[in-house]
Amino acid sequence: CAVFGIFGHPEASKLAYLGLYALQHRGQEGTGIATMDHGRINLRKSQSLVSEFYTEEMLEDLKGSSAVGHNRYATQGGDPERDLQPLTAFFSDGSMALVHNGNLTNAPEIRRDLENDGALFTTMVDSEVLVHLIARSRGTGLVDRIAQALASVKGSYSLLALLPDRLLGIRDPLGLRPLSLGQLGESFVLASESCAFDLIGARFIRDVEPGEMVVISKGGVESYRLFPRKDSAPCIFELVYFARPDSQVFGIPVYPARKELGRQLALLHPIEADLVIPVPDSGVAAALGYSEASGIPFDMGLVRNHYVGRTFIEPKQAIRHFGVKIKLNAVPDLLKGKKVVVVDDSIVRGTTSRKIVTMLRAAGASEVHMRIASAPIVSPCFYGIDTPTRGELIASTHDLEEIRRYLKADSVGYLTVSAMEEVMRSLNVRKEAASSSSKEEQFCNACFTGNYPIPFTQEERIQHGL
Ligand code: 5GP
Ligand code: SF4
Ligand code: MG
Repeated sequence: CAVFGIFGHPEASKLAYLGLYALQHRGQEGTGIATMDHGRINLRKSQSLVSEFYTEEMLEDLKGSSAVGHNRYATQGGDPERDLQPLTAFFSDGSMALVHNGNLTNAPEIRRDLENDGALFTTMVDSEVLVHLIARSRGTGLVDRIAQALASVKGSYSLLALLPDRLLGIRDPLGLRPLSLGQLGESFVLASESCAFDLIGARFIRDVEPGEMVVISKGGVESYRLFPRKDSAPCIFELVYFARPDSQVFGIPVYPARKELGRQLALLHPIEADLVIPVPDSGVAAALGYSEASGIPFDMGLVRNHYVGRTFIEPKQAIRHFGVKIKLNAVPDLLKGKKVVVVDDSIVRGTTSRKIVTMLRAAGASEVHMRIASAPIVSPCFYGIDTPTRGELIASTHDLEEIRRYLKADSVGYLTVSAMEEVMRSLNVRKEAASSSSKEEQFCNACFTGNYPIPFTQEERIQHGL
């Protein structure tokens, strides 16, 4: 999901709209904005894309000088209309609008306990447990009560809470999902990724730290440490695939990181070939890096249609490879008789990659070598990225040769986890800070290794079949 927040700006709703527009890639299943107008919340949300839903009139109606917004990317089932964010709540000490990116892993248990105790839930969203925990917490004032509520949840959260006179930005103790702080004139902004700041002309200040809560009010920004500083575990997959390439997340510029992954891939898995082509758009930066490091020319042998909607009408008579051709098509004049290296960021189920290989051969390629700019994905993510179950992940059930045969490729090469982490560390602009504390920056790499940074309860092990 994407979160965006702004405090103290006369055009808060319009800037939230623009911020969400820049963060559309983080979720396409729904969008919502809540504004705070003299203690009253205005709210609009819909199962739409940002560009399709908001109108000028609607944004005018969303009065108030502060706002939070959300783009939804579903990682759990539920009712897509009812489960949209922002969530709102009305407490005796004021109203609150909440947006959340991440996944509270112990939400089912907390919810069951709360329901046994009489709580009535209105959505299936894990974030709603926070609303109930805040309502029941006995702290003084909403900031204190939110901090107390967070003490009993586990999992990942980059969380914004809009209160009558304050905007809070909170990152979970491991810092699994990104969240950055920026400034626009006199007002402050919070966003999942820095690309949202660029669009509205805000200046990037810094990341919200793992376990930190920033409190933005008329008086400026204050910082509180909700959890003691310990080893963080930012999601390495954000850098591989999820974040926009023009963002900087966790102190690492995304595009250069992807390009360097491609360079390392060329060193680790060289091959004699005529052409390096990316799977657009996710493989472009890595393919350029592969081409640079190998000296093999780069070209766009696959063209992507950028206007693919949610549904398309298929003719009754089957068309070969229809599903993948909707999105991607090969350029035969580039490929005829060529040995090609195809670079993509990752393989999940392997179904797309398999169709691409066949498509390239049909367009005349004489050899097709798959190169993947990350390690094999072997385990599901429980922290906010929608990966399928272990059984559906091709690399969890097949070895390299079986994968090669399934894809019908001439060869397959993946990067290693240690090479990925080395790339990220070498590009971290906060390297100095990290090395002076004499500890290497750690990442969450659980989908590539099965090593989860949050210990499972017995119940979770059973639930996930681990
Ligand atoms: P596969 O060949 O395994 O079917 O699909 C691999 C493709 O899925 C890659 O191009 C990669 O960019 C993309 N991908 C990786 N993770 C995700 C994800 O979480 N959501 C979506 N929609 N695509 C993903
Ligand atoms: Fe990111 Fe993978 Fe960890 Fe999920 S399991 S948070 S996708 S690195
Ligand atoms: Mg892709």
